[in-house]
Amino acid sequence: MSYKAIDCLHFIDGQYAASQNGKTFDNVNPATGKVIGTVAEGGKEEIDLAVAAAKRALNGPWKKMTTHDRIAVIRRIGDLILERKDELAHLETLDTGKPLWLSSSIDIPRSGYNFQFFADYLRSLGTESYQQDDVAIHYAIRRPVGVVGLINPWNLPLLLLTWKLAPCLAAGNTTVLKPAELTPMTATILGQICKDAGVPDGVVNIVHGFGPNSAGAALTEHPDVNAISFTGETTTGKIIMQAASKTLKRLSYELGGKNPNLIFADADLDEVIETTLKSSFVNQGEVCLCGSRIYVQRPVYEAFLDKFVTKTKELKVGDPFDPKTKVGALIGEEHFGRVTSYIQLALEEGGTILTGGKRPEGLDEGYFLEPTIIVGLDRNCRVVQEEIFGPVVTVIPFDTEEEVIEQANDTHYGLSASIWTNDLRRAHRVAGQIEAGIVWVNTWFLRDLRTPFGGMKQSGIGREGGMHSFEFYSELTNITIKL
Ligand code: NAD
Repeated sequence: MSYKAIDCLHFIDGQYAASQNGKTFDNVNPATGKVIGTVAEGGKEEIDLAVAAAKRALNGPWKKMTTHDRIAVIRRIGDLILERKDELAHLETLDTGKPLWLSSSIDIPRSGYNFQFFADYLRSLGTESYQQDDVAIHYAIRRPVGVVGLINPWNLPLLLLTWKLAPCLAAGNTTVLKPAELTPMTATILGQICKDAGVPDGVVNIVHGFGPNSAGAALTEHPDVNAISFTGETTTGKIIMQAASKTLKRLSYELGGKNPNLIFADADLDEVIETTLKSSFVNQGEVCLCGSRIYVQRPVYEAFLDKFVTKTKELKVGDPFDPKTKVGALIGEEHFGRVTSYIQLALEEGGTILTGGKRPEGLDEGYFLEPTIIVGLDRNCRVVQEEIFGPVVTVIPFDTEEEVIEQANDTHYGLSASIWTNDLRRAHRVAGQIEAGIVWVNTWFLRDLRTPFGGMKQSGIGREGGMHSFEFYSELTNITIKL
């Protein structure tokens, strides 16, 4: 079944609404470059309305709802997402250019599971208590933080938005969501889903718009917003930190990455290749966790490259609705220009392109790019240091464990890393020395929602997942009773 693109309105106080001044912007399908709909363009006025609704809702029926009922509502949001999976996956693919099989198997199902997971987690959530000899009893109570602004990127639109919204609601907060301007459709539908699931009006508000001088900035500056959870570029995070500092908002940051894969000579090469193809090119390389710096130990360097290049050439790039497509379209014209400028830079920096580097033949419309493998670059090159966020990887040989650890850590980023080795002791030894919030050994992208997720250095602040999400979205008050 085929679904049509929708025009996107804001969702404020339980109602869909146009902008106060009627302003809209175009929504473009990255696979065709054609306009498929309009999006209401929000700014300060819409953010003011949404924050006011969220503030009122903090003391409304949402506050009085029992934990049992709140769990049921949150679980129901997840169920409704799964019930509407085909429609949501279709719209996600229209918005992002990613293959439909990917939206259907990862983005949308995991969005539903996010609500189910945090609903279940809430059921057994407690707080600390301590008996201090015969002097006192201390116990903590948990309360919502208040109105939380959730600002999201375009690469995994519904998945990342729900990864924030589910624990935010589970902890009893109200929220104003600012979806990425390039991918507004599934967020828009989520408003109705929340209402259908029984979320009271004003608890979830969605305002579309851009970042600077627009809805995003207005949200981060608003005095009645108590916290901001932001996923996006490191540079944007720095701007938001300045804006949020004026009212000292609590911040959670999931930012960019330039993640290393460390492939030792004793690893199972076929397994390495299979997973490295995914960690390099899945979702067009537009995943913050993609391994874009590949370090291969010299004895297997040539064998790795032979196989990796051959398999990469076999990846079908093209129509996201074709089930055989492995790599869809990049998100838009501007990003396409940015990614291809790095390919040009790689040549200027002395690199060699082993495959890719250009538009696939016959795909003149949309923003398609062949998966690209670059070798011959020095570790200090900008292409090796800066996040490209596209289907572009560099491969660099190494000799010793010490050398590769040092190179892997030689970046401002610290989000994730993958280590490939069959030497158990080395796996533990190296994993503990990599400066990253997430380290995989002999795998990639394997997630358990209970585990801490996030980056160190300039890849983020704080962790999401399980208990860590509740820590961010709750205020704790410690109560001490003298005995
Ligand atoms: P971006 O920073 O350009 O935009 C993200 C969101 O911030 C958008 O909704 C945008 O409108 C908003 N925004 C932009 N400027 C703003 C401002 N001044 N004030 C308030 N809001 C503003 O990022 P993007 O291009 O959408 O996403 C790609 C980036 O996200 C990459 O760097 C990627 O690594 C990162 N990312 C990180 C994770 C993670 O978990 N660490 C996950 C996905 C994406």
